[in-house]
This record gives sequence, C-alpha cells and structure tokens, in this order.
Amino acid sequence: TTPQKAPPKPKQPPSSPPLPRQNTKATPPSPPSTIRDKHGQFYFQRVGFLGEGGFARVYEAEDRQGTRVACKVVTRSSLATKKTKTKLYAEIRIHKSLSHPNIVGFQECFEGDDNVYMILELCTSGSLMDMLRRRRRLTEPETRFFLVQIIGACHYMHTHQVIHRDLKLGNIFLDGKMNIKVGDFGLAALIENPGERKKTICGTPNYIAPEVLFDTANGHSYEVDTWSIGVILYTLLVGRPPFQTKDVKAIYKRIRDNEYEFPSERPIAPASKELIQLILTPKPEQRPALLDVVHHSFFTTGTFPSYISTSAHDFAPDFR
Ligand code: ADP
Repeated sequence: TTPQKAPPKPKQPPSSPPLPRQNTKATPPSPPSTIRDKHGQFYFQRVGFLGEGGFARVYEAEDRQGTRVACKVVTRSSLATKKTKTKLYAEIRIHKSLSHPNIVGFQECFEGDDNVYMILELCTSGSLMDMLRRRRRLTEPETRFFLVQIIGACHYMHTHQVIHRDLKLGNIFLDGKMNIKVGDFGLAALIENPGERKKTICGTPNYIAPEVLFDTANGHSYEVDTWSIGVILYTLLVGRPPFQTKDVKAIYKRIRDNEYEFPSERPIAPASKELIQLILTPKPEQRPALLDVVHHSFFTTGTFPSYISTSAHDFAPDFR
C-alpha cells in the first residue's frame, strides 16, 4: 500500500491477468494465536488466514463472544521508518473516520508486542475480483446492484473529504449477504482545504485516471474515484479492464489516448456503453458527478435485483 512518487510505478501489478506480486520480502512470522493488547483490554483468538496485501496480512479472528472479525496485522519491524509509520497512521485515521453500510467497518486498532492490529468487519464472501475470476463476467442486473452500493460508499467518502484512490475489484469486498464493503484505505487521501489538489502519483495501473498520470502540475481530486468506477463497470460487464494490455507503459499510453473498445463477440447494451463512455471522460471536470451516474438510464431501466444470492459466486442468477 505504497503511494508512488514519479516515475509512476504500479502499487501492484495489473490485476487481470494476475501477474506475480512485486513484493518479494520474506514472510514475517505468524501473529500469536491469541491476539491481545498490552493493557489486556482486547482479546481475539486467531482462527484462519484471509489474505495478504502490500504490507499487511489479514486473519480471521474471534472475540470473547465468538463474533468473527477480520484482523489486519502489520509487523512493528515493517514500521521502522517514519514514512511507513505516517502512512499506516493516515490509513487508520481515515478508515476510522468512516462509517457506512458499504464500507468495511473499522472496529478497533491496538498495539501488541510485535505487531499493530486493526480489527475490521469480516467480509465472508471474498472480493469482486474473486467473484469475477470464477464467473468471467457479470450480468447487467448484478452489475447495477453492486455498482449502486459502490457509488453510495464513494459518495459518502467524498462528502467526508476522503478520496479512496485505489478503487478496484480486489479492494471491494462482499459480506455474507453479498453486499458491497469497500476496503483498503492505504492510498486514501483527505482533502483538508476545499479545492485542494493532490499530487502524489498512486493507484493501480488499470484503474488510474489520466489526470493522475498526465496532469501532475494541476494534480487530481475526487474525480479519480469516478474514473475507477467507470473502469469497474466496464470490467464487470466485459470481463477484463478496458485499458489492459501487455505492460504498464502500454496501459498508460492507452489511458492517455482514451483507447479502449467494446468486444464485438459479446454485445454490451447501448445504455451500458453510453454510461461507460460518459464516465471515462479524460477531463476530470467534464466527468459526471456520482449523483448523475446513478440517474443514468443504465440504472433506471432494466431489472434491479433486491438482493444477490451467494450462488452468484459460481452461476449467473436468473432474474426472470
Ligand atoms: P493491504 O492494505 O496490505 O493491501 P488489504 O486490505 O488489501 O491489504 O488486505 C489483503 C487481503 O486480505 C485482501 O485481498 C483480502 O483477501 C483480505 N481481507 C482484507 N480485509 C478483509 C476483510 N475485512 N474481510 C475479509 N478479508 C479481508
């Protein structure tokens, strides 16, 4: 979870197709099976492994009442420099400040002997990335259902002066009822003064907005999340990201040239195409506001499911 300074390098490799992680550091020892703080206030039992990211490992854990949570573990040794500490504390401060049904809940944060622990709401149905890997692509009704929740979470963040800056399928989790939970605030930024522009080049190649890469003098703001939502919309319907190609430089060139196409072998509905094209507008000031996006005919016409069954992990639901 590293904000990158120029020259732009990916936080992680392009997400589809999966490439080996760039992070090759040695695996740190597992946290103790009983996770507690120094003052004896918190107590969790580690019960399973959920996954690992740029600098954290995430475990499933249980509190004294048997409630399951996700426990994000960062080793103290990985916080040796002031920069890594500042970054982690920024992530915690931002994530802690947010409370929304479609954002991974942040419960606690405490220090143990060797690690810093973040106790998060458990998302038992994996990420949208896992789901898309199994399904290849989603139906329009499912995409409507998920996207409205992602947009709701994002609109909430923006009204709380937070830009996520790394919205992508792998950071969008699903709870047991197949509701969206946006997570990983490792690259999020707080807009402290209205009109402030951010200058750090960061994100994940396939999802980066053009102004982050090519308008570094002017900087970027909330609209970068809208762009990523456009990439997510395309990816869910088509089955691969719009600017995906062989290497990161070529991806950036395609983003700069706004070069993407709709596959001829699988027709995408005109309203879906139109909304994707509207969102993937190169100039951030011309990109639609999130409220305009949800009022587009892609959302207001066609089937809108009231829930998605967990069987949708493996099979396209029949909404007839
Ligand atoms: P990093 O900030 O280091 O990139 P992430 O927050 O992306 O770490 O988490 C790494 C992995 O842990 C995720 O890809 C996912 O598999 C798992 N994970 C993270 N948060 C949760 C959660 N709240 N519930 C379930 N699994 C999670």
